[in-house]
Amino acid sequence: MISYDDALQRVIETVSSLEPVEIPLCEAAGLVLSSPAASRWDLPRNDNSAMDGFAIKASAEDLDKGLRIIGASYAGHPFTGDVQEGQTVRITTGAVLPSGADTVVPIEEVEEKNGLVFPAAKSKSGQHVRYRGEEFYRGDVLIEPGGTIRAGEIALLASAGIERVIVFPRPRVAVISTGDELLELGQEPGPGQIINSNLYFLENRLSECGCTPVCFGIGTDDPGTLDHLIEQALDADVIISTGGVSVGDKDHVQATLNERDFTKVFWKVAIKPGKPILFGLLEGKPCFGLPGNPGSTAATFELFVKPALKKLAGHPEILPEKREAILKNEVAGNTRRQIFLWSRLEWNGTGYEVTVPQRQGSGQNRCLTAANALLSVAAGIEKIDAGEKVEVFLL
Ligand code: AMP
Ligand code: MG
Repeated sequence: MISYDDALQRVIETVSSLEPVEIPLCEAAGLVLSSPAASRWDLPRNDNSAMDGFAIKASAEDLDKGLRIIGASYAGHPFTGDVQEGQTVRITTGAVLPSGADTVVPIEEVEEKNGLVFPAAKSKSGQHVRYRGEEFYRGDVLIEPGGTIRAGEIALLASAGIERVIVFPRPRVAVISTGDELLELGQEPGPGQIINSNLYFLENRLSECGCTPVCFGIGTDDPGTLDHLIEQALDADVIISTGGVSVGDKDHVQATLNERDFTKVFWKVAIKPGKPILFGLLEGKPCFGLPGNPGSTAATFELFVKPALKKLAGHPEILPEKREAILKNEVAGNTRRQIFLWSRLEWNGTGYEVTVPQRQGSGQNRCLTAANALLSVAAGIEKIDAGEKVEVFLL
């Protein structure tokens, strides 16, 4: 059986980024830029005032004799005349600096008497002026390829007049749930039936990860039905199935995929939970068969699917972030498999601490609720004592 590290490496090598698309800036939140975004103009577009006050020429003679107010330059309403010796223009923050002026005296630092303005002290030439191009020039690259577009980036690009951007598209991810026992929320379980909780996990986690989930009802444990759902799922960029991927009589996922153009990359990884995970390319698209136990579905999603989605979406960093932490409670390992434990990482004021709930049954959803990290225990390690330093993967 291959190790987690080897399996992850194969996922990363197999998956390629999606073809970039050009879309409106305002639809690009969370996406990664694939071409540089360059400014269409200098910003500020004109020299302008950083304060409410008066625009003056700092080197003018006789400033102490008072300056006559000849007009106003308000934000959005520039003053069109010239400021000469002995004159000033009222100015507000963001308003264009009138020609002839080079300096702004804040309103708090002048005295107004008999229609004249007296600067209280000598002004430093150029004070409180924001110069044209001070933030960036036309043609400057504001965000390099690989940068993620978030609110701040959208604001920056909007200020530079960039209406459309070239990005890696949001991956569309098909989710197929297999299992004759599964019901949708709202249906009352009869004997042996359970709610399809994996569907709700994946649907929400995919959205949180910036993908578009495309969910297909419930595939029964019947190869014909399953094949029909797979056919529809091929519309998406990635296919995820849950359940039916182990060695039971009703585990038909692998056999059904094999009837199609499926290239298996691996099946079974030396991890717990999630050992029977299947990964390959279905008609060239990444296809993950996740084991059905809720703890296994969730862990294999975090460990394998999420890095693949990041690669598809063009993220330069695709591996999970890690933190060093002090273990709060002893945990047991496994001789043959690498164990991943749902855990809670917290900052105690000086460092990170990680607590691992005792109940980690892969058949349960409970351990997922408070978890914000996965603690890895390498294969062959019998136990890790409380107080030891460990490394955890952030979720
Ligand atoms: P399987 O991988 O199909 O053998 O399923 C393993 C266990 O996970 C069984 O107890 C299933 O009932 C359960 N299971 C499978 N699929 C789901 C699902 N979508 N939601 C919740 N539990 C599931
Ligand atoms: Mg099943």
